[in-house]
Amino acid sequence: GLPMHDPDREQAIIESIIERNPGPFDDRTIVRLFREILNASLGHMERTGQDGMLVARAPGAQDVRFSVRGWQIGAEPVVVAGPCAVESEDQMHEVAAGLARLGVGLLRGGAFKPRTSPYSFQGLGVEGLKILRSAADRHAMAVVTEVMDPRNVEVVARYADVLQIGARNMYNYDLLREAGRARRPVFLKRAMSATLDELMWAAEYVALSGEDRIILCDRGVRTFTRETRNSLDIAAVPLLRRKTALPIAVDVSHAAGRRDILVPLARAALAAGAQMLMVEVHPRPAAARSDASQQLSVEEFEAMLEDLAAAGLLGPAVRNQDDRVEVRT
Ligand code: PEP
Ligand code: MN
Repeated sequence: GLPMHDPDREQAIIESIIERNPGPFDDRTIVRLFREILNASLGHMERTGQDGMLVARAPGAQDVRFSVRGWQIGAEPVVVAGPCAVESEDQMHEVAAGLARLGVGLLRGGAFKPRTSPYSFQGLGVEGLKILRSAADRHAMAVVTEVMDPRNVEVVARYADVLQIGARNMYNYDLLREAGRARRPVFLKRAMSATLDELMWAAEYVALSGEDRIILCDRGVRTFTRETRNSLDIAAVPLLRRKTALPIAVDVSHAAGRRDILVPLARAALAAGAQMLMVEVHPRPAAARSDASQQLSVEEFEAMLEDLAAAGLLGPAVRNQDDRVEVRT
């Protein structure tokens, strides 16, 4: 907890060494030697390279696994699903019931929404968190929801099981630090122009604040293409799996920005090694207050799960809570 660089402390160390110098080096040589040692130590502690990063995969390290309300993350692939935004109690209870019936254990929904236009629906805030929590509790689901402001980390953590950091905030280092102190797993999304190393460094901020349960999520990056909202960077999945032992997620919905190609994208993500999928599901996508064009209905989402299961890419949802195994019917 001490500052790494403290000139007064260094001076005191050097003075005490000189006092005890029995030779044969003269004091000036000793001072020069120890200044070099202190500088090298400081450089080592400041770690400008990626060696020794907390979030880097150590040689031979096993994949990181942890459970959230009994739902295993990092083992068999799992899905986090739910609407773009929490809009109403009815909407959330309806979608949570549909998802729970399909074996989904992780419920998403934004209460604080990062919208491009300040005139667009910004989310229901704390009221949305309460609705999300109660919908999840009714079906023993875990809540994944975004926090945008370091000042809201505490209130979001009160209702959420996993704190989502959105793409627009991947570079918000104060938010990353604050989220890392909240004792909640963090779902960290890649910024739309971030390199994989920048994503790794963002995760390092979280880890350094004390939270080692971090999921890294690829949600597409911005390119010249107009057909999709972003370009899903499939190569990022195996590369991240190699760089880190943390669970890797792919959000197909925000990558595509359209619903008609989500199934093949999900197949590709799982085939490439993603351990988690994020999919936006809304009981009535056409009426959604945000991202209407990319959300699936519960029925469409069910067809997606069936396709992925038939392809051998996604098993039935496995729940370790109370050692019960719930199989999708
Ligand atoms: C979201 O998942 O709700 C979201 C806003 O996505 P992203 O941060 O990836 O744009
Ligand atoms: Mn959305």
